Amino acid sequence: MTRSEELFKKAVTLMPGGVNSPVRAFGSVGSTPRFIEQADGVYMTDVDGNKYLDFIGSWGPMILGHNHPAIKEAVIKACEKGLSFGAATEKEVEMAELMTDVIPSLEMVRMVNSGTEAVMSAIRAARGYTRRDKIVKFTGCYHGHSDALLVKAGSGVMTAGIPDSAGVPAGCTQDTLSAIYNDLASVEALFAEYPKEIAAVIVEPVAANMGVVPPKKGFLEGLRKFCSEHGSVLIFDEVITGFRLGLQGAQGYFGIDADLVTYGKIIGAGMPVGAYGGKREIMEMVSPVGAVYQAGTLSGNPVAMAAGIAQLTILKNNPQIYEELNQKSDTFFETMKENVRKSGHAWQVNHVGSIGSLFFTEQQVVDYASAKTSDTAEYARYFKYMLDNGIHLAPAQFEAMFVSAAHTEENLAYALQKAENFLM
Ligand code: PLP
Repeated sequence: MTRSEELFKKAVTLMPGGVNSPVRAFGSVGSTPRFIEQADGVYMTDVDGNKYLDFIGSWGPMILGHNHPAIKEAVIKACEKGLSFGAATEKEVEMAELMTDVIPSLEMVRMVNSGTEAVMSAIRAARGYTRRDKIVKFTGCYHGHSDALLVKAGSGVMTAGIPDSAGVPAGCTQDTLSAIYNDLASVEALFAEYPKEIAAVIVEPVAANMGVVPPKKGFLEGLRKFCSEHGSVLIFDEVITGFRLGLQGAQGYFGIDADLVTYGKIIGAGMPVGAYGGKREIMEMVSPVGAVYQAGTLSGNPVAMAAGIAQLTILKNNPQIYEELNQKSDTFFETMKENVRKSGHAWQVNHVGSIGSLFFTEQQVVDYASAKTSDTAEYARYFKYMLDNGIHLAPAQFEAMFVSAAHTEENLAYALQKAENFLM
């Protein structure tokens, strides 16, 4: 038995499924998780000494690669001054200034500790601002595990085949309306059915939790238009796309400003951080200025801020990072697409910037229903083949593959070669 297997055997008796987050479980790919001991650059090493070329990147935040020296140094320096004060710090101001400086639509920002919190709080601010209750989300989009958002959700919920969750009272989701991703008519119908009742439309501008599904041309523009016309708040959930597609995230990439935006893991560079922000008049609804209550003992934690500031500063000062990352990712995913074609299959490859997915379906994947046609058993075989060849992909079809700035041409060529071998 390997050390990972030993640990897993013990873990399942101590933690549900042996993990602290379901997306880490290897259940849907018929395997058991590798327990990771350390990670550097593009490689993770498990407790048995196996080395893996990593395409998860802690689900996005390691855009510069694991254990980046400048980020590590910033964290160590911050730790020397104390781990938490529960009081205002200069670093929080620095972080807020950094974010609002690079993202034009972000007039004010509030730090939280996770993407879930960011979304939950943004929704509350939008409801407080509009004095309306209903929200629109899209089937297959995932916005964290708060009650009101666990409706027809993506990610681990989709993998488990339980798009809603037990334990969520009907009252918590009665104001959550679901529309179809990339289908403006489904949104229009909800606005027609509930005029002046919709507080917000929340969307992953590039869906990344049903696998990667890019927005069709005009989809995000349409949402912007509906929200402006109906006095609803447009919320971009940029937990995945923020600071990944570019410094201005999806807003910059597609040239559309949301009213509120949520951020997660990437702004903490691996530390537990999230944030929400946007229009001043909405953010000033938030306590202690306004009556929308939202708080957090560890929010804006100095060590987490130090990590985030270090990462965002590198990204801000080196615009070529995004140019190169998006360019090499584009070549990577387009080559994968070509290899699929050469192999005689009609599997689909979707990608935007440095995130992408290989779907084992012949249908174009544009929404939840088409993503669901993917053959997950085939994905499991693909995953296992890649893992056996030292490549760590997401252990589920309905997640993204993340390329980082640290991946070299050689790393990417190796992954492509292995994927090609599998497909042939
Ligand atoms: N929103 C999106 C788009 C996400 O992808 C996630 C998590 O992956 C979340 C929200 C929730 O973030 P967290 O897991 O940090 O609570």
